[in-house]
Amino acid sequence: MTQQDTRPPAHVPAPVALAAVEPGPGRRPLISYVLPVYNERDGIAAFHAELTAALAGRPELDFELVYVNDGSSDGSLAILTGLAEQDPRVRVVDLARNFGHQIAITAGLDVAGGDAVIVMDTDLQDPPQVSLELVDAWREGADIVHARRRSRQDSAFKRATAHLYYRVLRASTDVDIPLDTGDFRLLDRKVAAELRKYRERSRFVRGIVASMGYRQTEVAFDRDERFAGETKYPLRKMARLAVDGVTSFSTSPLKMITRLGFVVLALSLAGIVYALAMKFFRPDITVSGWTMLMCVVLFLGGTQMLSLGVIGAYIGRIYSETQGRPLYLVREVIGGPGDDD
Ligand code: UDP
Ligand code: MG
Repeated sequence: MTQQDTRPPAHVPAPVALAAVEPGPGRRPLISYVLPVYNERDGIAAFHAELTAALAGRPELDFELVYVNDGSSDGSLAILTGLAEQDPRVRVVDLARNFGHQIAITAGLDVAGGDAVIVMDTDLQDPPQVSLELVDAWREGADIVHARRRSRQDSAFKRATAHLYYRVLRASTDVDIPLDTGDFRLLDRKVAAELRKYRERSRFVRGIVASMGYRQTEVAFDRDERFAGETKYPLRKMARLAVDGVTSFSTSPLKMITRLGFVVLALSLAGIVYALAMKFFRPDITVSGWTMLMCVVLFLGGTQMLSLGVIGAYIGRIYSETQGRPLYLVREVIGGPGDDD
């Protein structure tokens, strides 16, 4: 048989669903994983084992695993380096210190070169098997696939605050951030390329992605408990992320100051009218009060400081953005194609 005979007839169409994302003949699609790691010593090996076991079921795809060591102080780096030595698909981006989850994700996205990029936690709360469902949704034509938490095993407090926060965020911002999604999602190559252009410091990646448009879809999953260790998002960091989320996408807190000012003004006008009326119609009674005075002064002081705090949050953002410092510093990239440079 000659070579010409083996070619498929020209009139046979390519599979429609795959045509949009197929990177070209003879090459399997490359899926990059961006995997932020901060002090995950006890769970990272189990995570890697489960992820690679899941990936083994998809021989039709190529994979690249970009672990970002976000300044771990517990020896996670040594474990990651070991993984990179055993598995040529593993790359480790070692950041110079702890830069925080959102920046770690950004550092990973910056080096990920796949046709699709998946961001997921490395504590097995985001099940590796679900990431392949995201790939399926992508191959069916979606550009952004959010993994949506149908249920989660976190504490009642975390669940309640997260529930409330996502709804407040939705109500106060213009962008339509899908409910109950974290940072577990898949981005098409072109979306990842656009996302790399967003260089703001106080970043809320899930909000940025949601605001980008493209064809977005969701895959529901049940969020597991942490495999090992404890959450790296204590209340303080959660609050900061929450503030970043609102201030990144909305100026409604600033507008609320104006509204608050009108309310206080109306109250004080009512008080003035009352005091004058008393002076004219009941001059025998003096409008008394030290207590009243203190209440009013403290109320006004409180609202003013609160308002200054809100303005300060925005000024703080302006300040750190204008400094224009690099988002993160890399100590070393271990493994992968960039190993020898
Ligand atoms: N993480 C990080 N840098 C940080 C905090 C967290 O890279 O400063 C990583 C962490 O290792 C995990 C992911 O981000 O893979 C999510 O963190 P965590 O599981 O603690 O958050 P939670 O799931 O409790 O919201
Ligand atoms: Mg987690």
